[in-house]
Amino acid sequence: MNQIIRLVLLGKQGAGKGTQCIRLSRHYVIEHIATGDMLRAAVKLGTKVGLEAAEYMEKGELIPDDIVIRLVAERTSIGIARERGFVLDGFPRNVHQAEMLDEILVPEALDAVVNLKVPTNLVLKRIASRRVCADCGATYSTSKRPRVDWICDNCGGEVVQRDDDTEAAIQRRLDLYEKETKPLIAFYQEHGKLIEISGVGQEEVVSQRLAVAVDKVLSQKTNHVG
Ligand code: AMP
Repeated sequence: MNQIIRLVLLGKQGAGKGTQCIRLSRHYVIEHIATGDMLRAAVKLGTKVGLEAAEYMEKGELIPDDIVIRLVAERTSIGIARERGFVLDGFPRNVHQAEMLDEILVPEALDAVVNLKVPTNLVLKRIASRRVCADCGATYSTSKRPRVDWICDNCGGEVVQRDDDTEAAIQRRLDLYEKETKPLIAFYQEHGKLIEISGVGQEEVVSQRLAVAVDKVLSQKTNHVG
């Protein structure tokens, strides 16, 4: 199959977007574009974007739209993302970003937006136990540890708790999700792009549900083109 796939994965913090996006990107051989990971890397490198982003991120606030949109416009237009497609993780975060994304992609468009649904009490538990690789962003948890101590299985980086996984910052991010990001569900529903999937259950089971839903969208796309 030589089809370009353009996806967005929506969901609350801790819904499992990162883990599921990695699995989707391997399954379909597409780029996983996670704005949070890109921004954390910029902060670590001390780039201009990183210096500007750091203070927002620590508090759990959103980075100004224009900065994030520029990052996404660059990343979606090169390499695997351009040739095979991508899954966006953590972007768009509000309706303005979603509208800008549509503009960036013209003359193409998103194929589907998957909302990964997980109840708040469960995401709070997941965030509390979440650990990430400081270098490559791979996700672990207190119950799914790396093979050796807290050393990343993928890259050998140090696996740590995120700086913004503090109680105050988590609460702020969940509030922002309700206020800014949740309206995207109605936005994409109106655009006929929304797919709702339960994010509760084993990682493999959830990714199976995702693949079934995405395959369905792709087969409709093929039929449409053909
Ligand atoms: P995440 O890893 O997606 O939870 O993102 C971590 C932090 O990066 C967020 O709390 C924001 O400060 C920032 N961030 C990531 N994506 C975006 C975005 N699309 N718009 C604004 N800020 C973002």
